[in-house]
Amino acid sequence: MKYSRLRGTQDIVPPEIETWRVVESAFQETFDRFGYQGIRTPIIEPTDLFVRAVGEESDIVSKEMYTFEDRGGRSVTLRPENTASVIRAYLEAGMHRWGGIQRLCYFGPMFRYDRPQAGRYRQFHQVGAEAIGSANPALDVEMIQVVIEAMERVGFKSIDIRLNSVGSEVSRRPYRKLLLEAIRDHGDDIGTDALERYTNNPMRIFDSKDYGDKLKQSLPVISDHLVDEDSEHFARVCALLDETGVAYTSDPHLVRGLDYYTRTVFEVYHGERGAQSALCGGGRYDALVEECGGPSTPAIGFSVGLERLIAALPHEREKARATGGVTYYVVCADEGAAPRALRAAGVLRALGNTEIDLSGRSKKKQLQAAEKKHARYAIVADSASAGRLTVRNLALRRDEDVSDEALAVYLEAERRKEGNET
Ligand code: AMP
Repeated sequence: MKYSRLRGTQDIVPPEIETWRVVESAFQETFDRFGYQGIRTPIIEPTDLFVRAVGEESDIVSKEMYTFEDRGGRSVTLRPENTASVIRAYLEAGMHRWGGIQRLCYFGPMFRYDRPQAGRYRQFHQVGAEAIGSANPALDVEMIQVVIEAMERVGFKSIDIRLNSVGSEVSRRPYRKLLLEAIRDHGDDIGTDALERYTNNPMRIFDSKDYGDKLKQSLPVISDHLVDEDSEHFARVCALLDETGVAYTSDPHLVRGLDYYTRTVFEVYHGERGAQSALCGGGRYDALVEECGGPSTPAIGFSVGLERLIAALPHEREKARATGGVTYYVVCADEGAAPRALRAAGVLRALGNTEIDLSGRSKKKQLQAAEKKHARYAIVADSASAGRLTVRNLALRRDEDVSDEALAVYLEAERRKEGNET
């Protein structure tokens, strides 16, 4: 082969693509139900946007961005995440003047130069939502409800919501000092290089897989050091979740790798948490709009990694295969039958998904192809029987001779019969 795809990227091809369609529609339906409107932003942005929003010290910015100079000498970056772009677009479109809460949702590829492994790619896809314009704890609950409903629609029965508050900057500043001192006390276990790394953002130690639980347990947690407004906000979120019957696990060690998060943060896992990675991450980012040059505007959002979600869905994959594909397969037995086969396919498309076999191979081979595609009917146009088509019910292995004109009426009757049987 002359070319192969870049490391850490994937082709999504049939029939796998059907699963993607099922999953994307489940999210789209959920967004519609909750009143979220779509937004599409460029995959390429000025580098500075991500440096400011995601944080200079974050792994994403310091190690993982696809950054290059364009031909005009500007530093540009393939987006590693979408929240920063959505906020930029929100401000550029003047949405901050529209009043009320802007509820937005998106779907698309993201790029991180990470070490490729299972569930970790260099190009991956996220579906996510942002609600911009309110600090109401009830909005935090709504955001979590959106995630749960979408995941249920996709087919997840048991998901684990991990919840924490990382506080606002007012809580975090003094806490960071305290945490850094505690980390320094463990200097021997941690090593000088790592100590250096944690100097600017010590909370990242909770995200690291390099240390055992014992060390992490001994460190102070932010939830014990929140200022009143932050702890009241978190208590209200928890109370509202309890009152609406949403199950979650409080996780005082949960921090996120992006610097813009404030107050509520959450991650979603499925089944047993074990060593698996999160399917979804989200939280409040009350200072980001202002950081990007807009008025002070609180907001919250989440994003789900679709590759990970789909990999966690073996049963759904099968279902998607069954629902995708074609219902009618038109067999064109010889060249002379082509006009009738094309006409029949036109009629059939009004009834359902239709594929016409134009390969010129034998009738037998075409019928085999129809079975392989899991079509429900094969419709055979053959010059040997002018004006009449053979309709084969592939599941029942039953043939029926139908005139060209009666095809639609016949298959509609079949469909009604099938409807009655199921
Ligand atoms: P983040 O934007 O880092 O909060 O990540 C949100 C979600 O995106 C994660 O929970 C993953 O499901 C997914 N994700 C993040 N990075 C990757 C990656 N390199 N490859 C695949 N999925 C990813």
